[in-house]
Amino acid sequence: MFEHARCWVNGKLVPAEQASVSVFDHGFLYGDGIFEGVRFYNKRAFRLPLHLKRLQRSAAALQLKLPSEEVFTQAVYAVIEASDLNDGYLRIIATRGVGVLGINPATCKDPGVIVIADQLQMVSDEERAKGIRAIITSTRRSQPDRLDPRIKSLNYLTSIFARMEANFAGVEEGILLNDRGCVAEGTAENIFITRDDELLTPAPTEGALAGITRGTVLELAAELGIQTRETVLTPYDLYSADECFFTGTGARLIPVREIDGRVIQTCPGPAYQHLAAAFAELVQRETAA
Ligand code: PMP
Repeated sequence: MFEHARCWVNGKLVPAEQASVSVFDHGFLYGDGIFEGVRFYNKRAFRLPLHLKRLQRSAAALQLKLPSEEVFTQAVYAVIEASDLNDGYLRIIATRGVGVLGINPATCKDPGVIVIADQLQMVSDEERAKGIRAIITSTRRSQPDRLDPRIKSLNYLTSIFARMEANFAGVEEGILLNDRGCVAEGTAENIFITRDDELLTPAPTEGALAGITRGTVLELAAELGIQTRETVLTPYDLYSADECFFTGTGARLIPVREIDGRVIQTCPGPAYQHLAAAFAELVQRETAA
């Protein structure tokens, strides 16, 4: 199971079977911590500075003092070098650290820092080729004055509940609305649609994570001459879309062929195909030795 996993825990590379955290770590006890998922290609982490920036912003929201960017970068390259994979997936985690059993974060002295290199495949090649099915879940993204979904925290229960609904419905993915009934994102992906040759996606203020892949796709669309707009989308916009696809570090780009039983007009559509090809090319270009 951990054949390809390489772990760096609080300053040291440790064998995967021995990589562990204290049961008194508040990351474990309360989900008090943050994380990033990053891909590496050709043994180079893709857009690592952007991920570390987002990690640092999540840390600011939690008032969590992180080690420097250099420490994370060194840890990332230590696990990549130790890995037998050229292309893989990294998980960067910062926890509140070890403290007494009560929730008070002030009892935790030092944050725990963990970096894991492994592989991750979210959908099969066949699913990616023909597109996946999704439902709009009854589980909603919380509004920003409760727990801002832009914080990439270790508590993923909202996404997990949504994914359980998708599993129960027998489809591959769930789409979460915000408290106003407008589209936020997938369980671990941002969402895009096209309508009249325009590429549309909800703004982060709608309850979407400011995805690195989302940002890359918006950049690529501009380069390809595809008009883009951050806007408010409703379930109707999804059902009546010309195309729909998800983006994420784990997911990369995944086309959607059906939402709540409504068949999406084109899947995989032309915008998806152009952007997926441009994304693959960009990744190779940016990570080439
Ligand atoms: N939304 C959520 C809730 C996520 O967990 C992720 C994965 N990090 C994304 C969107 C996609 O973001 P990114 O492209 O940075 O991976």
